Amino acid sequence: MRCLLIATALLLSAGSAFAQSREPSAAIARLEAETVLLNQVRTFARPTAEARREAALTLIRRAGFEPVVEAFQGGEAGRPMEGHNITFVVRGHSNCGCEILLTAHYDAVVLANGQLADGLVDNAASVVAVVEAARQLRDDNLYHDVRVVLFDQEELGLLGSRAWIAAHGTGHAAAVVNSDVAAFGDTMMYGQNNGPQSLFVTQAVQRVCSERELQCVGYPNYPPSDDRTFVADRTPVVSLGFQTEIGAHQMWLAFNAPQGQSGLAPGFVPDVFTVIHSTNDNIGRVESATLLLAAETYAAVVTEIDGYFHRPDDHLRE
Ligand SMILES: [Zn+2]
Repeated sequence: MRCLLIATALLLSAGSAFAQSREPSAAIARLEAETVLLNQVRTFARPTAEARREAALTLIRRAGFEPVVEAFQGGEAGRPMEGHNITFVVRGHSNCGCEILLTAHYDAVVLANGQLADGLVDNAASVVAVVEAARQLRDDNLYHDVRVVLFDQEELGLLGSRAWIAAHGTGHAAAVVNSDVAAFGDTMMYGQNNGPQSLFVTQAVQRVCSERELQCVGYPNYPPSDDRTFVADRTPVVSLGFQTEIGAHQMWLAFNAPQGQSGLAPGFVPDVFTVIHSTNDNIGRVESATLLLAAETYAAVVTEIDGYFHRPDDHLRE
């Protein structure tokens, strides 16, 4: 009996030691992966648009992809400025020439003092997340090609995405998943104002939120990003972002509550709008855990959309 007790105790302690040795190592590996992404975001805080572009190209090459730069004529009225979209592809297995676009703008605003904002929340964090999502999708052998496009000059009026459509059209694009502002918090925001053609895309997002038990907030009225360019072209598209839970709900009220009924104090500005387009948009506001969470979620959304086209009996198609 005593021997049995000792043996059981040994087994139990061995079991718990085994569990303890496995779980912390997975947690540590995750922390390390998050730190890698945080350091990638850091590299985008550069003084010029050209240096920022170099940061994007380096990021892509280090992820094992070969970027292509597409120049376009952009700039503002009376101040023409060449822009540069950056793209690369994760090949699918179908050879159908059909693509799911995974997009984020990589440009930053010029501040009132004439300096380029660090632009890490808006939008280097998204850039890092979509490139990491592509890296995670590389071995998944999806049906569609996944084309990452990093747009330039979004901040000047969605110029990069307009130039992209002017050059390539959207006939090959099954859907577009755009990310803008995804640097802190654990709540994913998604726009629901991208036209009826985008319904299956928002439903794919909702399924991912449900399956992954991710806190998500849908916005009937969501702030504009490059998604609007695709809406104008009637392409299925969703725009995603991340925030704190309370920030996401405050932003929902600010954008969606009937006039005078938001419950927010007069003049209240949701936190995220005190960060972006300002000197506050710096590495101090970027959370490493959000970067990996965003990357994994975006990869899951792309996979869900890819699968949607291969389940003709899927209830979503009814
Ligand atoms: Zn942005």
